[in-house]
Amino acid sequence: MKRETIAIHSGYDIDPTTKAVAVPIYQTVAYAFDSADHAAALFNLEAEGYRYTRIGNPTTEVLERRVAALEGGVEALCVSSGQTAVYYGVLNVTELGSNIVSVPQLYGTTHTLFAHVLPGQGVTVRFAESDQPEAIEKLIDDKTRAIFCESVGNPAGNICDIEELAKTAHKHGVPLIVDNTVATPILLRPIEYGADIVLHSLTKFLGGHGTTLGGAIVDSGNFPWKEHTARFPMFSTPDASYHSLVYTDHFGKAAYIGRCRSVYHRTTGAVLSPLSAFLLLQGVETVALRVERHTANARGVAEFLRNHHQVEWVNYAGFPDNPYHALAQKYLGGQACSLMAFGIKGGLPAAVKFYDALKLVMRLVNLGDAKSLACHPASTTHRQMSAEEQHSAGVTPEMIRLSIGIEHIDDIVADLDQALGATL
Ligand code: PLP
Repeated sequence: MKRETIAIHSGYDIDPTTKAVAVPIYQTVAYAFDSADHAAALFNLEAEGYRYTRIGNPTTEVLERRVAALEGGVEALCVSSGQTAVYYGVLNVTELGSNIVSVPQLYGTTHTLFAHVLPGQGVTVRFAESDQPEAIEKLIDDKTRAIFCESVGNPAGNICDIEELAKTAHKHGVPLIVDNTVATPILLRPIEYGADIVLHSLTKFLGGHGTTLGGAIVDSGNFPWKEHTARFPMFSTPDASYHSLVYTDHFGKAAYIGRCRSVYHRTTGAVLSPLSAFLLLQGVETVALRVERHTANARGVAEFLRNHHQVEWVNYAGFPDNPYHALAQKYLGGQACSLMAFGIKGGLPAAVKFYDALKLVMRLVNLGDAKSLACHPASTTHRQMSAEEQHSAGVTPEMIRLSIGIEHIDDIVADLDQALGATL
């Protein structure tokens, strides 16, 4: 099925008992066992079924199957937020003393997690100088467990060369983990270019309405964990925390997600609620239509800004002179994302005046909402970074980040125009 159809139908068969067409919300913590033997079989993973919602829930499972199908993966795990997806996604391949290598252009909180939190837990993150495969490769050693990137960086708007990064990762026997939140599987499916694990903040375009936090981790099923047992013993040797289960034997191609669910989700419990899964499913149904309108509106806004005399620069990969234009052609099907940044003439004071004058475009920190949103990364999402770190993440003091919504283009442009007028 095509992505538009997957987004509406995948992962759910009409409920056989009630014939409910909409996915039912199974707002339950536990599930009754038929007998002691049935309970034991479930806990031994010998029988199919549910035990406890921290381990699995039928509503959430529909969302998991749908997101996995959208990304072309074998299985997904949904979690409480995008940040949990990033955290579990990395924890699942690392151990004390190991490292991952990351591009520098990251969402601010991911940067904080990598620069300050993971090292305290014994996992080092090596930040490359740039998103170029050569810069990444230089930092890989025998303790490296993954390469990490955002397919389209927030807010830098850089587009990573997923195919080349995957080749680099595989040459060194490690997986490529890609946060695909900004691009969405409608514009880009990283697994088709060799990515092994794909992460999402479902909070953004997939949910699409700014109502619900959620995250997803998608397993491509392609990384040969068994071939790399020396680096990744956790997947193909017995796990004492789960009565000596060997994940590659039990879960086959979905060993990565099987372990993530059995170890991190079960024991640390950052669970997505079934009601949230239901709300996110409503958003997923229309994601293809919305992304089409988001990207069309973004082009209109980018062109308006580029021609405006008070605008210093516009970072939009849809313009042929943008350094990432060729990669946008290759990976985003000639489109560019609706997340863009621009700088106003007059630096920080002008940026503040513009920001305060917005009336329709909302001042907040989110992206991928149906509403158009504006944020000033240097003072909000990337505030915890040093000036140097902000610079390498692509954040400058005068920068305004826009997430263009699906309102009528004329209304968005009129608001930006009047706010630019207020900077004089
Ligand atoms: N990844 C990216 C690229 C993001 O932009 C965000 C949030 O803005 C996250 C992850 C974290 O998502 P959440 O807010 O759902 O935890």
